[in-house]
Amino acid sequence: MSLLSFKGVSKQFDDTPILRNINIELESGYFYTLLGPSGCGKTTILKLIAGFVQPDHGEIIYRGEDIQGLAPNKRQVNTVFQDYALFPHLNVFDNIAFGLRLKGMRQRDITRKVSESLKLVKLEGYEQRSISELSGGQKQRIAIARAIVNEPEILLLDESLSALDLKLRTEMQYELRELQSRLGITFVFVTHDQEEALALSDYIYVMKDGQVQQFGTPNDIYDEPVNRFVADFIGESNIIPGMMVEDFKVNIYGQAFDCVDMGILPHTSVEVVIRPEDIDLVPLEQGLFKVTVDSMLFRGVHYEICCIDKKGYEWIVHSTKSATVGDDIGLYFAPEALHIMVPGESEEEFDKRIESYEANTHV
Ligand code: ATP
Repeated sequence: MSLLSFKGVSKQFDDTPILRNINIELESGYFYTLLGPSGCGKTTILKLIAGFVQPDHGEIIYRGEDIQGLAPNKRQVNTVFQDYALFPHLNVFDNIAFGLRLKGMRQRDITRKVSESLKLVKLEGYEQRSISELSGGQKQRIAIARAIVNEPEILLLDESLSALDLKLRTEMQYELRELQSRLGITFVFVTHDQEEALALSDYIYVMKDGQVQQFGTPNDIYDEPVNRFVADFIGESNIIPGMMVEDFKVNIYGQAFDCVDMGILPHTSVEVVIRPEDIDLVPLEQGLFKVTVDSMLFRGVHYEICCIDKKGYEWIVHSTKSATVGDDIGLYFAPEALHIMVPGESEEEFDKRIESYEANTHV
């Protein structure tokens, strides 16, 4: 049984649909991320889980029971808000102890629990500090300590790293990941930053316009985006129109290339995704085709090289080798580098196609 699931959940505000037919399943002990552009409904999902808003349609099931109408403080869920929502007039101890006092816990137990949760976020001994004395990173840790002191089964984190500078953010990403595996509870993290989602998550829900576009592990989503939106949103991509020739062969600009995709009817128009880091710059005679180097930028760990092919199409290549603008060179990619998408195909249709191909061919 899932820990928490949404079954066909919809929500609208002021007659505007915000979430449409959302189905999600959260298991115990995993790090989930809701990833999507601003306004796609990620925070609304967190609010539905926390019980701050109610669905218009559908069910939210927690350990087998519909929790429609269950008050937020009765749910095994705590939230770390984007602005941390700490009480500025209370010190660190009183901020963290707040929820425990509401529950009527004994002072001795409160003191022990506050100190344990401060230890978990590596701020031991900070009990008497005032909130205004804390740095952004420390405020974030206190907000997490305040949430985990209640021992929730699900911790919701709403864009919690977005207020931090890049270095601190990376540091906190490691810490969040470590904290999640140490606590062993379910994290639901909201972000619009795809790199953060890929780095942190066990599973990602990619969202757009109030709908889930794709669910999977970071590898699934990066390697097999189901549509152009996901391919574009998760890292940089070359997306080229093509036509299926037969299983394992696709035609791009009149040239047939080997690929690893199957189960698509011949002559179907497709989009071919090739990640810039999966393309090699090679001497002309070793290339699959010829391009001219148009521009090059150094990006710190790699060069971003823009090449133009004979039809005038741009190819973005990420390479640790540099190239010379104006040179004619070859491009090479392995069949596994080509990811074929059928425009308009949903994630379910994609899964069905693979299943039916496998059933028919006894793979
Ligand atoms: P962001 O990353 O910008 O926080 P998000 O993906 O988390 O975006 P939501 O905060 O869930 O998106 O908001 C989705 C849409 O719902 C937005 O257009 C927002 O203006 C609208 N919305 C959210 N809450 C309310 C509300 N209480 N009343 C009216 N509209 C709302």
